[in-house]
Amino acid sequence: SSDDSPPSGSSARGVENVVIIGSGPAGYTAAIYAARANLKPVVFEGFLVGGVPGGQLMTTTEVENYPGFPDGITGPDLMDRMRRQAERWGAELHQEDVEFLDVKNSPFTVRSVEREVKCHSLIYATGATAKRLRIPREDEFWSRGISACAICDGASPLFKGQVLAVVGGGDTATEEALYLTKYARHVHLLVRRDHLRASKAMQDRVYNNPNITVHFNTEVADVESNSKGQMSGLLLRRVDTGEESVLEAKGLFYGIGHSPNSQLLEGQVELDHSGYVLVEEGSSKTSVKGVFAAGDVQDHEWRQAVTAAGSGCIAALSVERYLASNN
Ligand code: FAD
Repeated sequence: SSDDSPPSGSSARGVENVVIIGSGPAGYTAAIYAARANLKPVVFEGFLVGGVPGGQLMTTTEVENYPGFPDGITGPDLMDRMRRQAERWGAELHQEDVEFLDVKNSPFTVRSVEREVKCHSLIYATGATAKRLRIPREDEFWSRGISACAICDGASPLFKGQVLAVVGGGDTATEEALYLTKYARHVHLLVRRDHLRASKAMQDRVYNNPNITVHFNTEVADVESNSKGQMSGLLLRRVDTGEESVLEAKGLFYGIGHSPNSQLLEGQVELDHSGYVLVEEGSSKTSVKGVFAAGDVQDHEWRQAVTAAGSGCIAALSVERYLASNN
């Protein structure tokens, strides 16, 4: 690159090759690949989600679908392993949230409470946050009856053969409901509005499935439990009449969407209408040269640990190419 001298105000170390923002599967995988490529990545392992670094998997118990762990692995254990692997190869890890980012001027500027770093390239892997209902007993039953991911948890012994409920009326919720019919005895779809927002095709599949009952104008008010403290049902409220009732259910799946953690890039790189970072199809390239995005922050469709890790790998290899072609 033509600009290796530190601009005024930057660290005395000069301009870093690459900064990685995020501490989920995407960020750590990018860190492993970038470190092994000798790029000496600087990683900001923030904890906006869940209060600890490690991303969304820190909020779950067993992960049963990550390849290489035939007996399953807990989310925190998996993330600890990814972190240690990145560290072992020499990634420089800082447990700090990035608070300011400038990718309009090159080199880019990344700032946390503790430090300011200049860099030639950036991997943005800040993940997404599953939207929550914020019902009173949500924290008590999170991962113990309440789940934000049917694909991850549907086959769990906790839910197999049980009556389950899905909340939401869009494509995510209808997809979750249909997916859960593979395992559940029956699925109730709880919809606040008086209609489904999902595509016509998805609506038809839901209405034609005898194992799904759709409840319109219905919101979840709280979780009900039995004497063992397990989820036994849901307290429902009609939004039109206010009438309350209890529905038997052993599980509640949230299909009310995700918010991508893309705030720092607003006005700097192109985002879609929901705030997901737009990348060139099949790549991790954003609308700004040298800025790459990986994981759930750029993926509203698959949202899996393994796909996030895969896109982190692609981002790091892309950075390697980008830096080589700019040197
Ligand atoms: P995330 O895991 O969301 O991590 C992003 C990290 O970046 C967060 O720690 C966040 O705090 C940090 N960050 C955000 N902003 C900043 C900032 N400004 N500065 C620094 N850091 C920042 N997937 C599976 O494949 N199998 C499962 O069994 C499974 N179970 C799940 C269970 C639950 C309860 C949830 C919510 C998700 C589950 N998923 C599962 C989905 C999986 O967790 C995600 O697809 C995956 O974690 C996405 O990885 P990511 O690296 O893109 O982002």
